[in-house]
Amino acid sequence: MQDVSLYFHIPFCKRRCAYCDFNTYAGMERWIQPYIEALCREIDLVAGSAAGRVGVHTVFFGGGTPSLLPLAGLERILGRARERFEFTRDAEISLEANPGTLSPEYLRGLRGLGVNRLSLGMQSAHPQELKLLTRLHDHQDVIRSVAWAREAGFDNLSLDLMFGLPGQALERWENTLELALGLKPDHISLYALTVEEGTPLFKWSARGLVDLPDSDGAAEMYELAMDRLGEAGFIQYEISNWARLAPGVGLRSCRHNLQYWRGLPYLGFGAGAHGYAAGWRTADVNPIREYIRRVREGESMPFPRSPANAEARELGAADEVGEFMMMGLRLTDEGISSRTFAERFGARLEDAFARPIERFTRAGLLEWAGEPGDRRLRLTRRGRLLGNQVFAEFI
Ligand code: SF4
Repeated sequence: MQDVSLYFHIPFCKRRCAYCDFNTYAGMERWIQPYIEALCREIDLVAGSAAGRVGVHTVFFGGGTPSLLPLAGLERILGRARERFEFTRDAEISLEANPGTLSPEYLRGLRGLGVNRLSLGMQSAHPQELKLLTRLHDHQDVIRSVAWAREAGFDNLSLDLMFGLPGQALERWENTLELALGLKPDHISLYALTVEEGTPLFKWSARGLVDLPDSDGAAEMYELAMDRLGEAGFIQYEISNWARLAPGVGLRSCRHNLQYWRGLPYLGFGAGAHGYAAGWRTADVNPIREYIRRVREGESMPFPRSPANAEARELGAADEVGEFMMMGLRLTDEGISSRTFAERFGARLEDAFARPIERFTRAGLLEWAGEPGDRRLRLTRRGRLLGNQVFAEFI
């Protein structure tokens, strides 16, 4: 079996942000310890059901706020994962952190545990925007966290930014981008704010209390980011992600997320975590206590399933192809390799999707790149703005 990726979902936050609809909970800190124990048992159950030792080349702690976990807890989870899986020597181990939850000691501790990539939720540099998003940090926290992370030895650091925020003018977005670039990150992720039903932001917006930029305004911000990040030497390798070339290392893209976009296997652990391996797509139950109960009481199941799964679906060939296309088209530089497609699905990409390819290449949203023996289908610059419209035709 090829090397897999491991995702650990850490569903704890100090407070819920106004726009957040992730599976995360505030005020549940007393469940952190039992949750860590449950994660370790889920690792045992899933790894134990595999035929042989499974290789692992990336690990990602996402959330929620993984930086709320004590170092001893992270050590326990990573230690158990290393015992039960075969980590490659250069495994990428990423952790998402909120500025304001970090300290120099904590960051040094993370490096000591082998965490080698840090993703900081900067979101915005502006106090009013951060306040509106009800984030708990300010820009000074970001500056401090980046400096401490560098001192601790993190040479692979990513910043998350959000655009399309209420009341956000283009100049303000540009200013956030400049301040982020000034921190010299290795990687930048940009997310357009989406107003999800059930969130406080949704209610404010329905009552007309916040003024969201229209889609043209958000598209303008995205285009500005493409230009500015390109000028600053960043390469856009995915619709929402940019990376810098590091001497002797190569492009600092997120190897863990590349696994998803390339349609390669990953195992998800923790409340609400998703997985995809051996032709199965899995999703664990969302509530923390239910997750802990299921893992404690459950028994091993055929790989890659777990007693914590709320859903486990064996994918048919059509599902696999559709997902492969939708994910692969997000890779704006690499695109979808016709050779990989043929090896994986036993058909020519050009034949399998002749109509949408013809339609979107004619409309200037898709293009062919690469060599004659390995052509790559990818979004054009204009196509990146209308990605969802294109993906829908391939599912
Ligand atoms: S910190 Fe992140 S995961 Fe937690 S509530 Fe805010 S947006 Fe959601």
